[in-house]
Amino acid sequence: MKIVVLKTAAVTLVSILGSLALVLTIVPALGGTVGAIGWLMCLLCPLFIATPLGFFTFMQERKLKLAHDDLMRAHAQLAAAHRRLSEKASRDEMTGMLNRENFFAALDGSRRKNDRGALLIIDADHFKQINDSFGHLTGDQALLQIAAAITRGVRSGDILGRIGGEEFGAFLVGATEEEAKLVAERIRSEVERLRFQPNDEPAVPLTVSIGGTNCESEANVSELMRAADKRLYEAKRRGRNRAIFDTGIPEAA
Ligand code: GH3
Ligand code: MG
Ligand code: MG
Repeated sequence: MKIVVLKTAAVTLVSILGSLALVLTIVPALGGTVGAIGWLMCLLCPLFIATPLGFFTFMQERKLKLAHDDLMRAHAQLAAAHRRLSEKASRDEMTGMLNRENFFAALDGSRRKNDRGALLIIDADHFKQINDSFGHLTGDQALLQIAAAITRGVRSGDILGRIGGEEFGAFLVGATEEEAKLVAERIRSEVERLRFQPNDEPAVPLTVSIGGTNCESEANVSELMRAADKRLYEAKRRGRNRAIFDTGIPEAA
């Protein structure tokens, strides 16, 4: 408000000076002299015209600026809410890992930047039995513990997703074959070490089988998935609680 008054005063002063300059130039040029009434008019006209007009204009300008600031604030809040919502929508609610769709999108994006890496598919063993013995809610607790063990097993910067009910994906960004095997083994043993005690009963063993594939080739996401899935199937067939790695270039269907 203070700034509006100051700006109005400045406009009034400039108008008075402008009127004086005009009158003092034109009237003598026309052969007249500027009397007391002339001086008074030079003061009153700007005061009664420029002052209210200036005040009104600067008030409108101020209102517009405030409305613009409000709009920008609302826009920033909306953008932040949108970011939070899309982050939430990209995640699996239960584990906080990426959901299936976004896991594959992140994998694809990472492959475009850097060809190297390894994909692991991690599937809980005999999980149906856990649900059948202790109920679905207790099964959820076991799944959460498995998800936490997987998270502990990977390196920061790796991409994790829940790609099915009791199935997880880990993309080990830039990992060599040796590193990927180490991570797969670390995940397997982290899960094996869990002490899952539903309803304070004796601990129930939890294990996972892991199929992995190294991907230095041009293979696309579905080819990598197929290759890792094949190894997972092999790990299940060979007794579960193991990680089997595909070192070769993924085969086409
Ligand atoms: P396998 O070792 O061959 O993988 O055996 P499995 O019993 O784990 O495999 P199967 O595909 O027969 O069963 C998967 C089970 O996982 C059945 C399903 O009810 C359970 N499951 C999937 N998603 C969830 C979940 O979100 N919560 C719970 N509690 N169970 C789930
Ligand atoms: Mg399973
Ligand atoms: Mg499964």
